[in-house]
Amino acid sequence: MSKATRDDAPLARQAGAYAAIRRALLTWHERARRDLPWRRRSDPYAIWIAEVMLQQTQVKTAIPYYERFLSRFPDIQSLAAASLDDVLKAWEGLGYYARARNLHHAAAETVRHYGGRLPENRADLERLPGIGSYTAGAIASIAFGADEPVIDGNVARVLCRVFEIEDDPRKAPGRNRLWILARDLLPISTAGRFNEALMDLGATVCTPRSPQCEACPLRTLCTARRKGRQSSLPTRSPRRPIPHHDVVAGLVWDRPRSPEAHLLITKRRPDDMLGGLWEFPGGKVEPGESLEQALVRELREELAIEVAIGEPFMTVHHAYTHFRITLHAIHCRHVAGTPQAIACADWRFAAPHDLDQYAFPTADRRLIAALQKTPLEVTWRGES
Ligand code: SF4
Repeated sequence: MSKATRDDAPLARQAGAYAAIRRALLTWHERARRDLPWRRRSDPYAIWIAEVMLQQTQVKTAIPYYERFLSRFPDIQSLAAASLDDVLKAWEGLGYYARARNLHHAAAETVRHYGGRLPENRADLERLPGIGSYTAGAIASIAFGADEPVIDGNVARVLCRVFEIEDDPRKAPGRNRLWILARDLLPISTAGRFNEALMDLGATVCTPRSPQCEACPLRTLCTARRKGRQSSLPTRSPRRPIPHHDVVAGLVWDRPRSPEAHLLITKRRPDDMLGGLWEFPGGKVEPGESLEQALVRELREELAIEVAIGEPFMTVHHAYTHFRITLHAIHCRHVAGTPQAIACADWRFAAPHDLDQYAFPTADRRLIAALQKTPLEVTWRGES
């Protein structure tokens, strides 16, 4: 065995620091572990569903969805056998609907290729739709005990602060550095517990604003705390301004002033944003167009129908990740043309009280809530 040299000293110091971090975190986690519904069962399927929901949703919001989803689809087989419409309906309101489509697709792949059991290693997990490096690491380490790291927003924040990492964790160089560090830091055979501890520390103590450093198990080991740099780490590159679009939606009635009146709804194409969800037909207002002109054009292009424009109904503001919209809903009456699914996957006329059966995006859901409270008294242009 070779003798230790002076050059080995930094490595030994680093190994000592890593060991101290592992010890402090795991000891703290024994008493501070969050009691979350998916931690009460060791079922990889439940952990998978929870981790996918948590990708873009806060724990508090995700819990009721998780519980409903698990009671509706209790295992991979039931999820694979369900229709996409049913899965989207169970996901309605959570946003980022690609997650639901990918879950459904991945469940079918798991039944087809793995006998209905999630694969245990990271590489096979990452081949399933919607499972990226974070989710694969979480499932492999927490559900199967594999020595795999995870990096989510909470873990990235803790590591950037403890190790004073200046790179933006949302960009490739910063992300790569964090993955290497997280792997080096991982304790052998307790990776799942260690990953949970890092996630819990970031969620409850090392929070984005006002971290509770005095209560933190890493307070004596943390560079950001020692240098007073907690608020400047992690580094955030300036965001691009978020664009805004005006969008029109037609409340297209098949007959006016009748309790029997039905509304036209369309289903978005599978590969479009919000694919598979239903909506009121319409689209983006082009420069120089009035709202009414945009609506008439969109209904011709999307469905080959003609409408009589009625009164404006309601305006809804909604923010997506990369843009914001103002949705202008306008009453219309269908006057000519059988709808054709030209720029949508499907269409139908539905009674207002039946709209709850379909999965709609949040902005349309707000229109429906208002519609169901509003008596139908619309004046059509050109009619008294
Ligand atoms: Fe975060 Fe403060 Fe703990 Fe450092 S000491 S990890 S900044 S809470």
